[in-house]
Amino acid sequence: MSGPRIVVDLKKIRSNTQTLVRRLNARGISVTGVSKSFCGHPAVAQAMLDGGVVGLAEARVSNADRLRKAGMTCPITLIRTPMLSEVDQIVKTCEASYNTEIAVVAALSAAAIHQSVTHGVILMVEMGDMREGILPENLPEIAEQVVQMKGVALKGIGANFACLNGVAPSSGQMESLSSLADEIEKICGPVIQTISGGNSANLPWALAEHSIGRVNDLRLGEAILLGVDPITGEQIGGLFKDAFTLVAEVIETDEQPTPRRNLPELPKIRIVSNRNDIARLILAIGHQDTEVAGLTMPEGGTLIGATSDHLVMVTDCATLKLGSEIVFQMNYKAIMRAMAAPDIETVLLNDRPSRQSRSSQGEAEFLTLV
Ligand SMILES: *Cc1c(COP(=O)(O)O)cnc(C)c1O
Repeated sequence: MSGPRIVVDLKKIRSNTQTLVRRLNARGISVTGVSKSFCGHPAVAQAMLDGGVVGLAEARVSNADRLRKAGMTCPITLIRTPMLSEVDQIVKTCEASYNTEIAVVAALSAAAIHQSVTHGVILMVEMGDMREGILPENLPEIAEQVVQMKGVALKGIGANFACLNGVAPSSGQMESLSSLADEIEKICGPVIQTISGGNSANLPWALAEHSIGRVNDLRLGEAILLGVDPITGEQIGGLFKDAFTLVAEVIETDEQPTPRRNLPELPKIRIVSNRNDIARLILAIGHQDTEVAGLTMPEGGTLIGATSDHLVMVTDCATLKLGSEIVFQMNYKAIMRAMAAPDIETVLLNDRPSRQSRSSQGEAEFLTLV
């Protein structure tokens, strides 16, 4: 194995998914697995399905297409408001989409009629994150318009928290979401099957000791992949934090750690030790490959800086030499960038569930990728 690579331990993805699914199912909430951060890599998505998610959610139709091309038949919901220019492709590839614009729903309706299918619509409500959504006061009227359109079926409502503003939802906001479903049903009848409460930032709310109202689904990416609460960064009990790691190779070593002055791209203030047992290393990875600021340095290592293709660090680990490989933990942004980078290979560990878990959970549960 050579070159910079992401190593994904699929057993840990399956395990993280199972743990979250079990805990949320006990509260009447299903889990939709969000595949956008790993660019819809089919094997990682399959690990989420093996772990019990009811379907996948994608932000990009190109990633949804990648899942379909790999033979995946599970429900896929588009979670980014569709572009008007891509409605045909969305109707072809995804069972449903999150929507905020009635003109887009009308275009989806026309595309669905043309393709003789029914496309599901989930209306995204703006509950305070100020990213996307329909204002609550406009929701019942828009829902009524959707219900009257042919080719589309109103399936539910959803909200999104802590994406743009990093503020977790309050229980008051979550109660309002449930009441909105009731309000729509007073006008449109019992149409709301899914009330999707939000993303990984909703987990503390969903698992706390209070009523969860009508919320019956969460869309989870980060918590499954990284095992952490995205707001506090704290590990979630029972989950693995190291399902994804990034490996890069040392291409130059230097015993003198003091950098020359005025190197471009280096931060202005930096503390560099003058101990002479510290080595300076250059690695073959850079901004073109990942979000360097989102890498956790290995023990004894300090990041000095990076350029498009090089990462410079110092380390007190004497065994590191030319050709050594260094393993980094990544945050969500670093994973997202590295999964999309053309020079980073993806290596899968534990690709299929073990024999034991296979027989204990039933053979039929695991689809075969083609
Ligand atoms: C990215 C995204 C999610 C998943 O968020 P995580 O923090 O990874 O759980 C859920 N819903 C929407 C609309 C998103 O854009």
